[in-house]
Amino acid sequence: MSAALDAKRLREDFPILHQTVRGGRPLVYLDNAATTQKPRAVIDAVSRYYERDNANVHRAVHLLSQLSTQEFEEARVKVQRLLNASVAREVVFTRGATEAINLVAQSYGRQNVGAGDEVVVSHMEHHSNIVPWQMLCQERGAHLRVIPVDDRGELILEEYEKLLGPRTRLVAVVHASNSLGTVNPVRTIIEAAHKRGIPVLLDGAQAVAHFPVDVQELGCDFYVFSGHKIYGPTGIGVLYGKQAILSAMPPYQGGGDMIASVTFSGTTYADLPNKFEAGTPDIAGAVGLGAALDYLASVGLESAAKHEDRLLRHATERLCEIPGVRIVGTARHKIGVLSFVVDNPPVSSLDVGTQLDLEGIAVRTGHHCCQPVMDRFGIPGTARISLALYNTVEEVEAVAAVLRGVVTRAAARARAAAPAATAAAAVEPVYAKTYGPSPQATADKLAAAFDFMDSWQDRYQYIIELGKKLPAMPAAMKTEENRVRGCQSTVFLSARRRPGTEDVMEFLADSDADIVRGLLTVLQRLFSGHRAGDVAGFDVEGFFHRLGLDQHLTMGRRNGLTAMVQRIRAFAQKLAGSASGAVAETPAGAAAPVK
Ligand code: PMP
Repeated sequence: MSAALDAKRLREDFPILHQTVRGGRPLVYLDNAATTQKPRAVIDAVSRYYERDNANVHRAVHLLSQLSTQEFEEARVKVQRLLNASVAREVVFTRGATEAINLVAQSYGRQNVGAGDEVVVSHMEHHSNIVPWQMLCQERGAHLRVIPVDDRGELILEEYEKLLGPRTRLVAVVHASNSLGTVNPVRTIIEAAHKRGIPVLLDGAQAVAHFPVDVQELGCDFYVFSGHKIYGPTGIGVLYGKQAILSAMPPYQGGGDMIASVTFSGTTYADLPNKFEAGTPDIAGAVGLGAALDYLASVGLESAAKHEDRLLRHATERLCEIPGVRIVGTARHKIGVLSFVVDNPPVSSLDVGTQLDLEGIAVRTGHHCCQPVMDRFGIPGTARISLALYNTVEEVEAVAAVLRGVVTRAAARARAAAPAATAAAAVEPVYAKTYGPSPQATADKLAAAFDFMDSWQDRYQYIIELGKKLPAMPAAMKTEENRVRGCQSTVFLSARRRPGTEDVMEFLADSDADIVRGLLTVLQRLFSGHRAGDVAGFDVEGFFHRLGLDQHLTMGRRNGLTAMVQRIRAFAQKLAGSASGAVAETPAGAAAPVK
């Protein structure tokens, strides 16, 4: 029997959790599937290593090199124990789960997958367990086969069995899904593959920190995970492989430490695991990972699992009570991952995440590097709560309270806007008038308004308010052609030459996210109604920097903004380059698309 876990006491071990953010609010960190926070024991182990023992491993006879080699190898043994691998040399250190999968794809894959062969993955994989296989299949002329997922987010095992055939060379599936939370029946998956002599790789990035894993009991051929998702440092990860399989695989990268001897007539390779660890490894990372595993063992993985499961149930209940919130991923067996969308009234995940962030609550929004499974559920993304051993019921209550407010406000707004929205869907497009004499003049005005506000919260509200003034884009213009890809939310943008002018451009745009509608309004005020040459030559990036937007937007949102700006700029350049009439004037409502 595992003892009940005292999360409040354990929080003391995590210095980062003791801060206030966003104007004095306590930090509520619920983005643990992206990365977990680090206990003091890990932070201290890394600093102690650098303060006392730092030297390169495996290379010198001197004391410090011996110490660092010893600590590095002890960390390997700790990983061996975590996974119950039969020997330590079955544990290869990598940069993370992603690199471990790439290693298998490039080494095992290139050796064993040929033209016409097949690799099986599932529909719920993280991109890092899709793209390396796609790249391999492309190179070898092989095919990727995909295990489908049902409406709960569980793999359809009958379909899986049908995918296994004489050309299947490998099955690569996620142990626990980062986007849906599903814990897959990996034992059944492995048995079915092994019956046909097919090896199996398990992506354990979301598993190892949340329940015990025994690779010998499972019988998997490869198992991968990242240190930073199990309370350890970033930059260190693990590939476990069965000794016989790893021994038969060619090296992944060449360099120091992975050789037995090198001459210009030929090189022989080192034994496991060094064969796969070319160059100086992340020694401090391994030491930190070792400390993280000690920490987790002292807490008790089973206690942590029970605690997270209790919290998951509580969070699921609370979110289900909020009208309009729909949980995505309702598998019977889940880790503490709760993905949800607000679809009645619709509130984009980006807006949900931003509103939570303003209250000091960190959740992840978007596709979670799992675009195929988002497509499977017909959604662009979700907001996701992901739990760790230090999360508390109070934190779950805090999310539920903010979310309830978000939904209530959205419902009130939707009621107020309903007649206007119906009218907008039917109207002919009405393009914005021109703001200011030049993009620069408008930029100066906007920057002055921003300067006036001293908190990001106020600026955020200002952007949201601006978004309400975005001219309506008729539904008929929201076509695939006008969709701007690369944004976390759904964005449409359609530009055209203003009728009756030679090179004045204007555009209509829309998004499902309030914050993006605000940013689109900023772009529209800057550019709509100005000469294409002025638009193309305007330093938008410099302007966003001046507003501080580049610091306050997440990478995902910045990428989205860049995609929108590129779309506008491409049109402006095309229009400026063909002001003599190469860009045909398009009738209202059928603006010339920009490719
Ligand atoms: N697989 C899964 C299921 C994940 O959740 C992640 C990280 N989100 C990865 C693989 C990749 O991990 P890393 O970026 O640490 O290599």
